[in-house]
Amino acid sequence: MSFRATILTLYPDMFPGPLGHSLSGRALNEGTWALETVQIRDFALDKHRSVDDTPAGGGAGMVMRPDVLARALDSTAPADDPRPRLLMSPRGRPLTQARVRELAEGPGAIILCGRFEGVDQRVIDTRGLEEVSIGDYILSGGEIAAMVLLDAVVRLLPGVMGNEHSGTEESFENGLLEHPHYTRPAVFEGIPIPEVLVSGNHKKIAEWRREKSEALTRDRRPDLWEAYVRSRG
Ligand code: SAH
Repeated sequence: MSFRATILTLYPDMFPGPLGHSLSGRALNEGTWALETVQIRDFALDKHRSVDDTPAGGGAGMVMRPDVLARALDSTAPADDPRPRLLMSPRGRPLTQARVRELAEGPGAIILCGRFEGVDQRVIDTRGLEEVSIGDYILSGGEIAAMVLLDAVVRLLPGVMGNEHSGTEESFENGLLEHPHYTRPAVFEGIPIPEVLVSGNHKKIAEWRREKSEALTRDRRPDLWEAYVRSRG
């Protein structure tokens, strides 16, 4: 069974969007993964088809109603659907390459995209939604966040990137940032490619890459570096 994504959103027309291009687009056409969108508004309960209401306790903005979202979720994904139920949310656990890899090995994902101030807490609790953040900043809605997550997952699905590149040498895969890259021309604006890379000495090249990778991580991401050092005991 291929990876199946179901997106609950107020803006289904945004999909597949960028996911319809390049690697993920080809994989979508070839059936390596499937994408279904669900218009949350179709599950509204009143004649105005409202999906949001004012926040209990007062304050700015609107909150997505739990009754409408619960109907949308329940009709899309029955309780025995094995796929994880994700809610894109700045309060969620930050997305990591490790979580992306786990998702890519699973049956798919049901992804709820928030809008306005967010989602009534009761539907998060009763439907066991896993909140996922794509970083410490606020987007206007969960759709682009869902696309980010899916793009990261889909490129890992078998066959999507081609056999020559398993993706296992990428940044974060081994806890480090990746080394710098070079290609032709041999000299660009007076700057040559580092000599070791054209030496043909594979052992030296691997050592150079490892050193650069470690130095970059130490400089730019002390958080990753500390975890890396600790993991090596
Ligand atoms: N009031 C909320 C922000 C709401 S932003 C707060 O302060 O936490 C509206 C919607 O955009 C959210 O419900 C969520 O679905 C999405 N969103 C915004 N920022 C996000 C992020 N960093 N990661 C994932 N989703 C995000």
